[in-house]
Amino acid sequence: MKNNSQSLRILVTGGAGFLGSHLCERLLNEGHEVLCADNFYTGRRSNILHLLSNPMFEVIRHDICFPLYVEVDQIFNLACPASPIHYQFDPVQTTKTSVHGSINMLGLAKRLKATIFQASTSEVYGDPAISLINEEYWGNVNPNGYRSCYDEGKRCAETLFFDYKRQHNLNIKVARIFNTYGPKMHPNDGRVVSNFIIQTLTNKDITIYGDGSQTRSFCYVDDMIDAFVRFMNTTDDVCGPINLGNPDEISILYLAEKLINMTNSKSKIVFEKLPQDDPTRRKPDITKAKQYLNWQPKISLENGLLKAIDYFDKLLKQM
Ligand code: NAD
Ligand code: UDP
Repeated sequence: MKNNSQSLRILVTGGAGFLGSHLCERLLNEGHEVLCADNFYTGRRSNILHLLSNPMFEVIRHDICFPLYVEVDQIFNLACPASPIHYQFDPVQTTKTSVHGSINMLGLAKRLKATIFQASTSEVYGDPAISLINEEYWGNVNPNGYRSCYDEGKRCAETLFFDYKRQHNLNIKVARIFNTYGPKMHPNDGRVVSNFIIQTLTNKDITIYGDGSQTRSFCYVDDMIDAFVRFMNTTDDVCGPINLGNPDEISILYLAEKLINMTNSKSKIVFEKLPQDDPTRRKPDITKAKQYLNWQPKISLENGLLKAIDYFDKLLKQM
């Protein structure tokens, strides 16, 4: 790891979103100057309200599909809607954000000779044909389905990042993020953790898509942000792609039952149609993250869910 104890100017695109707002807070706590660029498509001012009075923090409303001229030392490129209902709402814009947006941010990084981090995703593996997914697996992705705007957009972004490295010797850090949850998730983003917690807290039916046997591996947000910062601070030869996630794999049915118990809810489980191309399983092999970042998740599903339940409970009381 490099010693990055000095104060840097850091750009976080998508900084008003779920992961971006946690990252901005973490970087400010480490004494850096943070510039958050966000078009507020899915991000919310409320996520960053508590940071606005900090003189080291600045926000600009900006769509990364257009060039951005700023002076920074590092770039975290997180801008992109992440939940299926949000990224499928305007699929052309989703692809543009990953492709045009990456070109603009890579161009900026090239001019500044800045290290750039890309928030890639486990979705680049599509519906994987292997059970424990390592970075060498090329994936099983539908190129023209409803999820393709996100999956193929992120795959093309990875291509661009590695071509900028090969062609322009840019310092890149490509992280493949697996399902992450925690406070500041958008309550209407339709993702399984936010949906199920809100449904259990309000005693509404829990909507399982399909039979609930599909699996996911859920990582608590603080663990994920710690991995981002560790990755950014690695030496230049460590560029990824590196899987970041919690290898603790569970079925969606198990998650529903666990949340009913944890919240003492009266909710009933109902089964609905499985969306197209919904991956049947997802579990990261995090050997590389352990080796290169000396990182593995510390927060258990139980403890993470307790914090997320607390967040949504307070949010519902304000609504
Ligand atoms: P999010 O939707 O909460 O945040 C995305 C942010 O990007 C929002 O603030 C949104 O307004 C902003 N944005 C979208 N398009 C933009 C554009 N064209 N220009 C500027 N800003 C734009 O999602 P998140 O969960 O915080 O995800 C952050 C990143 O991590 C995304 O790139 C996502 O693909 C990736 N990721 C997240 C997860 C997860 O489980 N949360 C998993 C895999 C990958
Ligand atoms: N899911 C569900 N009920 C919901 C929301 C999601 O059963 O109310 C399922 C979804 O079909 C998928 C899994 O939960 O199999 C995770 O969905 P999410 O949208 O959170 O993320 P994904 O990993 O699919 O991008």
